[in-house]
Amino acid sequence: MSKHDYYELLGVDRSADESTIKSAYRKKALEYHPDRNSDPKAEELFKQCAEAYEVLSDRNKRARYDQFGHAGMSGQGFQDVSDVFSSFSDIFEDFFGFGSAFGSSFGQRRGRGSAVRKGADLEYELHIDFRDAVFGVQKQVAYRRQITCTRCHGTRCRDGAKPASCAACHGSGQMRKTQGFFSIATPCSACGGVGAVINDPCSRCRGKGHVSEEKHITVKIPPGIDDGMRLRVGGAGDGGRGGGANGDLHVLLRIGASKRYRRRDHNLFVSEDIGIAHAALGGKMQVKTLTGVENITVPAGTQHGDQIRIRGQGVPVLGGSRHGDLIVELKVVVPRKLKREQRELLEKFATLGDDPSRKHDSFMHRIFSHD
Ligand SMILES: [Zn+2]
Ligand SMILES: [Zn+2]
Repeated sequence: MSKHDYYELLGVDRSADESTIKSAYRKKALEYHPDRNSDPKAEELFKQCAEAYEVLSDRNKRARYDQFGHAGMSGQGFQDVSDVFSSFSDIFEDFFGFGSAFGSSFGQRRGRGSAVRKGADLEYELHIDFRDAVFGVQKQVAYRRQITCTRCHGTRCRDGAKPASCAACHGSGQMRKTQGFFSIATPCSACGGVGAVINDPCSRCRGKGHVSEEKHITVKIPPGIDDGMRLRVGGAGDGGRGGGANGDLHVLLRIGASKRYRRRDHNLFVSEDIGIAHAALGGKMQVKTLTGVENITVPAGTQHGDQIRIRGQGVPVLGGSRHGDLIVELKVVVPRKLKREQRELLEKFATLGDDPSRKHDSFMHRIFSHD
């Protein structure tokens, strides 16, 4: 199924606020919930609405989506309905109350009872230089993650033994209660919801089934990345349980400032000083760009704050071949000290008129003389 517009999916206006989006998503989640809607398209729409909500409820992601559409959202989306539940368990709890079976019954059908679970997603904050963000770079990243214990392979028991079934919940891991429309399930307190108890724990993981490892990966950062963007490294998060998929690593990029340039999206701004004569008469000027030197023409009569745009000398557009522009902001600098000859020439210049402040004088003079 092709990608729908996130706003259309949730049926909200592009200017909708946070709470409108949240309640629209709540409605859609109920409508397309796979346990309640047998239409074969419902599951796909359920996932797409969750994706839409994930983006539109996050200020950064929403801004990126507004600007670039789906093209700016690589790595977004849910493969599996159970991913939706694991990502949004807090929201579903918020919607339907703690321990609601709204989410968990579907998860169970996918085998939560046999403890198959996707590993947790991790976040890593990576600081990179201004130039590296513009041109792209490869970075080594080291972090710790949880993986299945290599000694007991996740069975949590010593010497390959199997855990015993929990007597309190008869191995189901859950205590169930029915309350109105929903069946409420809470994790079994005796076994912590696992459905099994360990009598002789593995010595390496002390019965946890997982251990911490240091992981080293190389992250390829594409040219044109901006501050606050995230890269997803699939499968680099915590290991899954019971054969479940690994979580992902989300690399949050923090971009350092440049001494020379200010960046706004793909455009760069730079200030250049220019003398009063140069500004008045116009002429050529050299401007240092990210990759070299550019000759620009300053028009005669340039004012303080005027901008000259150098096309294509800005930041590459992420995933495209286009570049932003370099915008030169001209600062007209009035000399603080004048040489004798300069003073003489300027005094002569002044006698020739064309000073706006003098015009103002005569204007004021006219007003008062008429009174
Ligand atoms: Zn172990
Ligand atoms: Zn139990």
